[in-house]
Amino acid sequence: MDFTLNEEQKMFRETIYRFAKEQIVPLCEEADLKGEFSFEIWKKMAEMGLLGLPYPEEYGGSGADFVTCCLAGEAMGHAGVDGGHTLAWGAHTYLCGADILLHGTHEQKLKYLPKIAAGEWIGCMGLTEPGCGSDAGALTTTAVRKGDRYVLNGSKTFITNAPVADVFVIFATLDKGKKHKGITCFIVEKGTPGLATGKPMHKMGCRCSTTSEVYLEDCEIPLENCLGGEYNGWNIALGGVEWDRSILLSPFLGGAMAMIDGCSRYANERYAFGRPIGDFQSIQNRIADMKVCLEVSKLAVYRVATSKDAGKSLNPLLAAVNKMYIGDRGFEISSSAVDLFGGYGYIHEYPVERGMRDSKLGQLGGGTSDIMRMIVARAMLR
Ligand SMILES: Cc1cc2nc3c(=O)[nH]c(=O)nc-3n(C[C@H](O)[C@H](O)[C@H](O)COP(=O)(O)OP(=O)(O)OC[C@H]3O[C@@H](n4cnc5c(N)ncnc54)[C@H](O)[C@@H]3O)c2cc1C
Repeated sequence: MDFTLNEEQKMFRETIYRFAKEQIVPLCEEADLKGEFSFEIWKKMAEMGLLGLPYPEEYGGSGADFVTCCLAGEAMGHAGVDGGHTLAWGAHTYLCGADILLHGTHEQKLKYLPKIAAGEWIGCMGLTEPGCGSDAGALTTTAVRKGDRYVLNGSKTFITNAPVADVFVIFATLDKGKKHKGITCFIVEKGTPGLATGKPMHKMGCRCSTTSEVYLEDCEIPLENCLGGEYNGWNIALGGVEWDRSILLSPFLGGAMAMIDGCSRYANERYAFGRPIGDFQSIQNRIADMKVCLEVSKLAVYRVATSKDAGKSLNPLLAAVNKMYIGDRGFEISSSAVDLFGGYGYIHEYPVERGMRDSKLGQLGGGTSDIMRMIVARAMLR
């Protein structure tokens, strides 16, 4: 496989990098300190076309391929955009919007995607529940068909963007007896009676993305809000993994690049025992190890993106390898960066502190590293 970027891709990445550096990053530090989602940043992302990147033009997007979407995430992370706003971008454009793009009817796409692409409506996706995350197939939120409506009951937790969302893609079961095969996907709009969100959760990292519970109490939605057909929810959830284990990982790549750049500069500037700390073998090893992890992670992400662009379906084993490797190595790189900065690494003013908090999510969200190991081992031992 050839992962060399063409001129157009290089220019696109550079444009997003500059835009993010000049217009978004200056707003990120304060937003992270306050732990607030910034509508100002959101508006800028929308104007730049980032919120509808993969949707066809007729639905308000620019029809970007997987590699281009990954380049956008990588460029934002590299410029220094915080993990919260890139997570909000991922949940909105891919977890919510891409489910509608891939499984929606033409009418659903026309109704939701242009507003999602314009940032006018914010999207979220609710699969995880208070009682089950890793074992998502055991979800208990129910949907019952009554005449021309579905009635939803249950709750979701850890839902990115929920407190600010207008469009909720919700997974519920039509038949608990069928286990994961009973799962069906629905679109619920803000303001629907019976839909409520909890208080934003106070998080360790990715603090600018808002996260909360979602409550559904006798929440009635029209039949046309079923997404992708009854009993097709599990396939939709598994399809989301393709975006989750490529594009949503790309900001972590960029974040690691920013940390390695910062560490290299710091190693030249910071003196100890009369010489730059970069003269010490242990510091050199640290930087070399980070760089090796980054290069392998890049190969992993762009291998998935390139094969998706070639029309191949994702190999779940390789997707799990990707998610585990990048999740674990991303946190390792950021933790190593904090070590390299010494005491300053622990202080908020230095971006490595935020990077370490943000990167921890790579090992938890979208399936934990334990679960990825389990998927890999099961495939090997079959
Ligand atoms: C900031 C944030 C944002 C999120 N955004 C969303 C979102 O937008 N939408 C959404 O639906 N979800 C979202 N999630 C949920 C996330 O995907 C889950 O938290 C994750 O899948 C783990 O589920 P859990 O928290 O229930 O952990 P559990 O499943 O309870 O796991 C607890 C521990 O047990 C381990 N474990 C469980 N089963 C096994 C096993 N079989 N073998 C080995 N170890 C095992 C896990 O690895 C973990 O260490 C988000 C989470 C966070 C923290």
